[in-house]
Amino acid sequence: MRDEALERAALAFGIREGLERGEFEPYFQPQVDNKTNQIVGFEALVRWNHPELGLLSASQFVPAAENAHLIEEIDDLMFEVICRATTTLDKLGLPHATVSINISTARLMNSELVNRLLSAVDMVGVDPTRICIELLESTLLNDTMDSAINNIRSLAEAGFGIELDDFGTGHAAISSLRNFPISRIKIDRTFVSGIDVDTSLPAVTETLIDLGNNFGVKVLVEGVENNAERKFFENTMCDQIQGYFVGRPMPLGELSVWVQDWREAYPLAKVA
Ligand code: C2E
Ligand code: MG
Ligand code: MG
Ligand code: MG
Repeated sequence: MRDEALERAALAFGIREGLERGEFEPYFQPQVDNKTNQIVGFEALVRWNHPELGLLSASQFVPAAENAHLIEEIDDLMFEVICRATTTLDKLGLPHATVSINISTARLMNSELVNRLLSAVDMVGVDPTRICIELLESTLLNDTMDSAINNIRSLAEAGFGIELDDFGTGHAAISSLRNFPISRIKIDRTFVSGIDVDTSLPAVTETLIDLGNNFGVKVLVEGVENNAERKFFENTMCDQIQGYFVGRPMPLGELSVWVQDWREAYPLAKVA
């Protein structure tokens, strides 16, 4: 326990330094249409270029950053870089592709959030409809979070997409879909992993897909890793897929090569 606490404290100290040294950077993971394989967007996932430990993924430091109240600073830093990334997508011939941002509960409760996001899109001159905000069901559950809920409503009114991440793992799936201006759900990887071999998973996952369809929101399935999993979803009513099978999260500079390779593999997807 003590070691863990010490490790977390050291990590928090390192995050502060890393922020000063500009060691954080978003990586981008592609999302494609389930039927046409057309590229529909990218999810931005923060990475830390740690001077000693190398490249760290979000799951390795986001919990520590949340504990140390540093996640808000990281989220703010990501906004501007992520908004600017849409101009790269334009140049790659993807003028409609969206970019999704993960926003922590702490950041969502902050009253400055809406202005901050609006000025970021303004500065870059990007349409808010190209930016999606990913939230967790737990953010919407807590009724002490009126400010978060007001922020979500304002962002939706301004045109930002609002998405429920890790769908199916929380306890508020249905009420959230009824009560919030959700535009897309992202079905969690736990409902995907091993779907080609499991006996009960396919029916459960298809029920979640139906749920999204019946509420009139887009349904994306995340964590599609291999060909067997990909094949399974071809025959379902989900709208989009994301996962290692499509592409790993990558730095902005590598997007153009990935886009080119994907278009070669799926020539029909060229028609935007
Ligand atoms: P998430 O938003 O649900 O992101 C999905 C995670 O699964 C990412 O891990 C991604 O790299 C990984 N992943 C994607 N496809 C596959 C696959 O096919 N197989 C497997 N096994 N994994 C896959 P990552 O980047 O470590 O992010 C972890 C979590 O950290 C994210 O979960 C998100 O909740 C949070 N996060 C990431 N970036 C940010 C950020 O900028 N701000 C905040 N507040 N949270 C962030
Ligand atoms: Mg996410
Ligand atoms: Mg997720
Ligand atoms: Mg997650």
